[in-house]
Amino acid sequence: MTYVVGLTGGIASGKTTVANLFHQHFDIEIVDADVVAREVVEPNTIGLNALIERYGNEIILNDGRLNRKKLREIIFSDESEKHWVNQLLHPLIRQSMLEQLDMVQSPYALLVIPLMVENDLQRLAQRVLVVDVEPSTQIERTMQRDQVSEQQARAILAAQADREQRLAIADDVVKNDAKNQKLLPQITELHQKYLALCRENL
Ligand code: ATP
Repeated sequence: MTYVVGLTGGIASGKTTVANLFHQHFDIEIVDADVVAREVVEPNTIGLNALIERYGNEIILNDGRLNRKKLREIIFSDESEKHWVNQLLHPLIRQSMLEQLDMVQSPYALLVIPLMVENDLQRLAQRVLVVDVEPSTQIERTMQRDQVSEQQARAILAAQADREQRLAIADDVVKNDAKNQKLLPQITELHQKYLALCRENL
């Protein structure tokens, strides 16, 4: 069984940046929940076919792909439909993540799940790594990257689990308030630790 390190953190904390460093420097393979969530609703999947059966062709665009805007409208306006969609997609996402983790060839896998705390998915990983930053850093980076106002950035943060909730499930923490050059030493040390841990687990 693949040894799985779960990676999470709030919006704009640096999850992608951290995961890329593990990949670029140590060839660690990554399974990303956001990518999998898109894959399970590609054309000709069980996921998209079930959505079409429930909502009709208005849930797809002319090219046969999912109309995400329409789906967002449906689930924002009706709590029970949101529940139905989650009941459909969450098991598909989980199953696909497990299949992809099973195929990983690197000594351990990084499983990136932005909403790990919110969806209680830490059990999929043997170990949890949290990218931790000050909320002010998150707000600054969200505003810059997504071109949103400070108020919008604060609203997104408020809708997510807070820093303490994430740190409560952490086995390891990467600090990412400083500039990028501070990251690699932390990641190198963690990589050595994970290599030792996954060898113990063989
Ligand atoms: P999200 O889940 O919101 O997509 P994320 O947690 O994956 O975000 P990244 O995309 O890695 O975060 O980083 C968010 C933004 O902050 C990016 O624009 C990135 O370039 C920048 N950033 C991340 N880490 C640093 C750093 N140490 N110094 C400067 N900028 C950084």
